[in-house]
Amino acid sequence: MKIVLVGYRGTGKTSVGRALAHRFNLPFRDTDALIEQRAGMPIPEIFARFGEEHFRELEREVIASLRDADGVISTGGGAVCDPANVEHLRWRGATVLLTADPRIIEGRIAGSDRPGLTHLSPGDEIQELLRRRKRAYLGAADVCIDTGSRSVEDIADEICRYLTDGPVPLEQRREAGRHPAALDRAQLARVVERDPLTRICGIAGNPCAHSRSPTLYNRLFAHFGMNYHYTRLQWHDVGEIIRFARSMQIRGLSVTIPFKVDVMRHLDEVDAHAAAIGAVNTVVHCGGRMYGHNTDWLGVMNPLGHRRGARAAVFGAGGAASAAVYALLHLDMDVTILNRTPDKARRLAERFGCEWAPLGAFVGSDADVVVNATPVGMEPDTRSLLAADQLAAGTTVFDLVYTPPETPLIMEAKRAGCETIPGTEMFVHQAVEQFRLITGIAAPPSLVREMMM
Ligand code: NAP
Repeated sequence: MKIVLVGYRGTGKTSVGRALAHRFNLPFRDTDALIEQRAGMPIPEIFARFGEEHFRELEREVIASLRDADGVISTGGGAVCDPANVEHLRWRGATVLLTADPRIIEGRIAGSDRPGLTHLSPGDEIQELLRRRKRAYLGAADVCIDTGSRSVEDIADEICRYLTDGPVPLEQRREAGRHPAALDRAQLARVVERDPLTRICGIAGNPCAHSRSPTLYNRLFAHFGMNYHYTRLQWHDVGEIIRFARSMQIRGLSVTIPFKVDVMRHLDEVDAHAAAIGAVNTVVHCGGRMYGHNTDWLGVMNPLGHRRGARAAVFGAGGAASAAVYALLHLDMDVTILNRTPDKARRLAERFGCEWAPLGAFVGSDADVVVNATPVGMEPDTRSLLAADQLAAGTTVFDLVYTPPETPLIMEAKRAGCETIPGTEMFVHQAVEQFRLITGIAAPPSLVREMMM
């Protein structure tokens, strides 16, 4: 058995860890103590003589050495900011995030000889680091427990209950296997019956029967040694899917058509990128709160990183176009939106402060990058938005449509001597970012591509 405690300093990882180790009769392994052993000096001295980077290097070595260890492992507060550490910690283990109010943390760590990591006052440093590490903490944990002003034994009791009974009582788990939104009810019922600790994730959409995400995610979970299962949730009302996800303690959701906008009002927090785009495609559930994010824009931005500052034409003014425009503006591109209904292009352009034009106004030599964010060319449609003679050689053409893998537009673009990026690349890169938000692990794009096959 491998139990990993993560969280900020002063949240009780060491004292709770010792209590848990005692109860389960397991060894207790504190990564900070192991680092001191390895370095032959206390942590303040490591920082003073060699700096934080050297400390992080030692931390990485120690955590890698614990990948297959059993026992209760307590990690340093910043360890989970490195996804490589999270990969080792999560490997065949259960990860528990301990949290506490910043004022309680400040009281607990007052008088410690550990050096500060910023030039801020202790109270401000706690606030700032908690803000910076929030995503990493929420992603790295299977379960989140507020240690507040509770006793060590009380917290250990709650973790023991979680490790024995799982996050949800058996009868409630059984009900999940009967919920009409669960497309794979029989399989879900078997999964929740077999092991109470298996954490559930899924895709919320209507329809989502043909989604590739279940295959991809279940392969990734197996690859990273995670006791997780990904399922499909299809219903006409996203509010009901979210209620179900809360009651079942579903850990993470991919959100797809038609819920990316509507889901936002059912969440506890929506991050700044998702709010600016006006859509959420990822939900992380931790400590009773649901956090909304958008990774679609990163799916457009990451494959276009080499075209920073270019002149870009985006076709379409719907949800995918909104994420695409946000991505291109982050790459300092000069963006023009072209749409069948010009008024929608105008409204989107006004929202983001860029140019707009009707579809017919496109001039190939005016664009270094072309993004198709319309469904034109999606199977069974065999039309292309643009013909080869409308495109200039050297232009980068990114077709967000991914069925078929080689769309009519991509074929025209190749004929014109353009660089082409297929829609599967958007799917791959948004999935990499979504998997990181939900698990804290950075899956390489090449692994995601391989696992989609
Ligand atoms: P949406 O919100 O419905 O917007 C569709 C846009 O396409 C609208 O601006 C619409 O113009 C335009 N359009 C529709 N039919 C057209 C036609 N025949 N000719 C010209 N323009 C047309 O859809 P969305 O969510 O943005 O998705 C758009 C496409 O992006 C999808 O079909 C999908 O293939 C792709 N996508 C890919 C990924 C990925 O991971 N690769 C992710 C998301 C979406 P009007 O305003 O005039 O109606």
